[in-house]
Amino acid sequence: MGARVAVVGGGISGLAAAWELSRAAQDLTISVLEGAERVGGKLRLAEVAGHLVDVGPESVLARRPEALTLICELGLATEVIHPAPVGASIVSRGRRWPMPRGTLMGVPSDPDSVRGLLTDAEVGRLIAETLTPPIHHDVPLGAFIEQRLGAAVTDRIVEPLLAGVYAGHSRSLSLEMAVPALHRAARDGIPVLEAARAAAAAASDARGPDTPVFASLRSGVGSLPLALTRRLRERGVEVRTGTTVRELRAVDGGWVLVSGPTIDEVEELFDAVVLATPAAPTARLLRTVAPRAAQALASIEYASVAIVTIAIDSSRGELAALADSSGFLVPPAESLTIKAATFTSTKWPALHEHFPETTFVRASIGRHREEATLQRPDEELAAAALADLATVLGQPLPDPVAVHVQRWGGGLPQYAVGHRLVVDRARAGLVPGLGLGGAAYDGVGIPACVGSGRAAARRVLAHLPD
Ligand SMILES: Cc1cc2nc3c(=O)[nH]c(=O)nc-3n(C[C@H](O)[C@H](O)[C@H](O)COP(=O)(O)OP(=O)(O)OC[C@H]3O[C@@H](n4cnc5c(N)ncnc54)[C@H](O)[C@@H]3O)c2cc1C
Repeated sequence: MGARVAVVGGGISGLAAAWELSRAAQDLTISVLEGAERVGGKLRLAEVAGHLVDVGPESVLARRPEALTLICELGLATEVIHPAPVGASIVSRGRRWPMPRGTLMGVPSDPDSVRGLLTDAEVGRLIAETLTPPIHHDVPLGAFIEQRLGAAVTDRIVEPLLAGVYAGHSRSLSLEMAVPALHRAARDGIPVLEAARAAAAAASDARGPDTPVFASLRSGVGSLPLALTRRLRERGVEVRTGTTVRELRAVDGGWVLVSGPTIDEVEELFDAVVLATPAAPTARLLRTVAPRAAQALASIEYASVAIVTIAIDSSRGELAALADSSGFLVPPAESLTIKAATFTSTKWPALHEHFPETTFVRASIGRHREEATLQRPDEELAAAALADLATVLGQPLPDPVAVHVQRWGGGLPQYAVGHRLVVDRARAGLVPGLGLGGAAYDGVGIPACVGSGRAAARRVLAHLPD
């Protein structure tokens, strides 16, 4: 029998790690140990009004290759769908404004594109960028943009865009991790407007004007871990759910993983282990075998969020307000409960063709350190989402036929200032035979997680005998 390798955590990072292991030249016995009763972690489908829809992530960035490459390797290329070419909007001073195109995480490549969303005075301030001395360390993204382009760019554009990705606050998040191109510009003393223009030009050259930025699957992003698990099992990989790993011990020549109830512990021996769990459980597992890595990971905070999915009978005539846009983002300055809404049925025509009788809208709630917003019953969260949608759209939606509330406690890691050093410390504190993959390290998006899981698998493979 070949070497035994365990992957702890059956989210997309762990499953991608197992996929990479299953393609290795070595003869391996691979086990994925997942604590929950289902695989996928944050990728999840739920039944709403009789249809299976995403209640976690609903798209992948098509500009990065990792997720689409995996999808193609699984033979699912024909299942890939793209959003309709309708724009999203940002709420500012009580009304919706078109989302400016070609921004670098909110920094406009064309200042005129944000006129309206910002006042003329605010646009004037951003055009007259204040150049600050080159920086040689990490800084808070929001504060840096405020210094360079004025508070309005941070508060009304950067903030809602970042909340959409990290559910975090721009004045706490790392410039280096969240927008590396701006960090390089800050380091090299380049105006950020110039960096945004260069990034927009490079992106349009690389993909051509009509290539979609986002993608999904016909059966939802949540179908990806299910398909991946099927393929892994076909390849002889054991994917075991309901198995929370409670302890990791180093023994002569390998690792013992302890799972099962404390009165009936199960101990299993492995030659190598990939930990693809969120930072807190990873830190607990590493406490004795890699205390420095554990300490670094324990410092990473998470934001909790909730997704409210609203299903409306499509035959109701009052849905025109949902037809012209893929949704909107809401900056904290607007004092609404929701931070974003997606008009799912408009954004994803292929889904709407699938279930035309139901129109789906989803709202997302929750920012870092604002857990109090979520501490109320599902019905109240749903009512708040419907009330905010009515406020922004200028009319109430028809009564829903179903509403689903999905809570994601500790849903998104926060890349605080200095996050790169934390990750470097965690990796430096590891010992051969252990790998780390997941949203806490190199990016929270699905492509980054897939890349991180696969890289962790390659790391442990490098230490196994051929
Ligand atoms: C609401 C929401 C919307 C999002 N939208 C998007 C989007 O549209 N596009 C996008 O690209 N990204 C999106 N993201 C981000 C992305 O979904 C996540 O960052 C990514 O799925 C994380 O994957 P992961 O495998 O690293 O972690 P997880 O999905 O958290 O998986 C970790 C797994 O480890 C298991 N586990 C934990 N502890 C143990 C243990 N001790 N033993 C065994 N198993 C354990 C957990 O049960 C879990 O299944 C969104 C995230 C959220 C929360």
